[in-house]
Amino acid sequence: MSRPAVARIHLDNIVHNYQLARSLCPHGNALAVVKADAYGHGAVAVARALSEHVDTFAVACIEEALELREAGIQQPVLLLEGFFTADELPVIADQNFWTAIQRPDQIDQLAAADLSQPLNIWLKVDTGMHRLGFAPEQVVEVAKRLQALPQVRSVTLMTHFANADLAEPAGRIDVPTQSQRLFQVAEGLGLNISMANSAALMAHPRTVQQWNRPGIMLYGSSPLDFQSDIADQLRPAMTLESKVIATRIVEPGESVGYGSRFVADKPTLVGTVAMGYADGYPRQAVEGTPVLVNGQRTRIVGRVSMDMMTIDLTPIEGAGVGSVVEFWGEQLSANEVAACADTISYHLFTGVTRRVPRDYC
Ligand code: PLP
Repeated sequence: MSRPAVARIHLDNIVHNYQLARSLCPHGNALAVVKADAYGHGAVAVARALSEHVDTFAVACIEEALELREAGIQQPVLLLEGFFTADELPVIADQNFWTAIQRPDQIDQLAAADLSQPLNIWLKVDTGMHRLGFAPEQVVEVAKRLQALPQVRSVTLMTHFANADLAEPAGRIDVPTQSQRLFQVAEGLGLNISMANSAALMAHPRTVQQWNRPGIMLYGSSPLDFQSDIADQLRPAMTLESKVIATRIVEPGESVGYGSRFVADKPTLVGTVAMGYADGYPRQAVEGTPVLVNGQRTRIVGRVSMDMMTIDLTPIEGAGVGSVVEFWGEQLSANEVAACADTISYHLFTGVTRRVPRDYC
């Protein structure tokens, strides 16, 4: 028998979620964002499952794009972070990748490149995230310079939102401000625009443009910090589970695990589960973080260790060695678990390590 930790990936749910995303942009297109190994779900398997529905994929960097090509994915692949060195440019052209451009010296590199075909360039505009991109005042000049290069086939203007997930961005830069800044620079340029990530697609229909970039929603997790009908229609794609590998009764006054964080106040049936932070389960999970055993809710007791964690089996009738434990999935949302570890579902999904086999169903 092998170690029971497994991430079950429901590819049909990813297809459903993509179709939902697509329905939110009836007059535009939706790139499927499969960077970071499709947010931990397995980029090749996800891209293959989406292949007949998706026109274009998006990843962070050329290595991720090449992985898709080597697996036989034929669609264009956008590099959201762009290129890092000029020697990537001929490969980008040969492979029909599209690339973001975010710094002036990248334009010089492009102008000096000898390419097999001109490139589709996504010009990053910094409308308030202040991470990457050209200031709005520079964009007209930069776009014109790019359009004049023989190495450029088309230019698309893109920006990224800092707070599209928040109901009340009070005091922080909001979606209308950022999108207005992009609309203003786009005026008169006649270029395609791309702004919406999942949160914007779900909650800010005015940001839906020619190209939209849903990521997390494809994996069935809502980025929104508020209820939404669309969020309710998402289907979680990853179920992380393992099994109980040992049990013991811990008597009152006795503690469990490193740092003795949990001290029993009554006889407690503690189950040890093959799942730890080296599998990607967050060590920051607080006492009482929920888990499901045989489909019933119970809680973590004691600290998560590298390969194991301990849970309270007292309320679960018939639980013992071999009982299935679900950490997140269709019945327990990754967002709820993430909140118990002061993080976000993105972090949980991308954190599931190689040691955990992905089982595609
Ligand atoms: N576009 C860009 C530039 C991104 O960096 C990301 C993800 O971080 C996305 C789109 C997708 O965002 P989300 O997963 O929130 O839909």
